Amino acid sequence: MKLKRFFQVLIPAAIAIVVFLFSTTIPGTAAPTGKTQLYWYGQSAFRITTPTGKILLVDPWLTNPVNPNGKTDLANLNRVDLILITHGHFDHVGDAIAIAKKTNAPLVSTADLGRALTTVGYPQNLVPMNTQGNFGGEISLLNNEVRIAFIPAIHSSAVASDGSPAQFAGNPGGFLITVQNGPTIYHTGDTDVFADMSLIPQFRKVNVMLACIGDRFTMGPQRAATAVNYVKPDVVIPMHFGTFPALTGTPQAFQTELDRQKVKTKLQVMKVGQTVQL
Ligand SMILES: [Zn+2]
Repeated sequence: MKLKRFFQVLIPAAIAIVVFLFSTTIPGTAAPTGKTQLYWYGQSAFRITTPTGKILLVDPWLTNPVNPNGKTDLANLNRVDLILITHGHFDHVGDAIAIAKKTNAPLVSTADLGRALTTVGYPQNLVPMNTQGNFGGEISLLNNEVRIAFIPAIHSSAVASDGSPAQFAGNPGGFLITVQNGPTIYHTGDTDVFADMSLIPQFRKVNVMLACIGDRFTMGPQRAATAVNYVKPDVVIPMHFGTFPALTGTPQAFQTELDRQKVKTKLQVMKVGQTVQL
């Protein structure tokens, strides 16, 4: 009887130790910090780590020209819970297919983009119905730890594999990501400013806005400042600038425009490879 009692205690304890060691030693697994962490890879690529350690990637072009550690970042990324893609262009799809194949992370996108991406290699079983949506809709994922709303964008969206003609990938968008016990983050995707951005804070207070400012293919600093005025976030973080010489908008010009347009939102400029705690 004593021996039985011994095993009743020992076996669960041994399992608990193994689970604990495993969860703390797998590279790329985030230990829960109770806070939301935001990491910038450059261009529009961000990693969001939730308070319980879930990992979301948005527009994961890790191997972009301004990320000196792109290849290492890609190699070290062993666990991802969700991959969010705003539209089909290469600087947003980025390394998503390689990441999906090695992490089994499902794709959050419009159904049109999801379908288009499966034709260029995104595994079909990782584009399930429950992570797909469309504008005006909001989905709850990861046991309701994140809510993701599909926000329109004024841009274009097509997917192309090497050498083949581009195929239409539905309308482009942005995401409003609400983290349980964390912030609400609006990733604009690539877009011009549009007046309906002013509807977003009527439904949900935005804490952090990730705003494209590079000009030419998206809004530049002047129009981005107007966008911030519509969304009224606590903090705006610029993205989609400086990756190529053609993306000429700068954080300095953005600050000048925010001041000129009397927008009170705080500008926070991230460096590539930097983490901020939200
Ligand atoms: Zn882009």
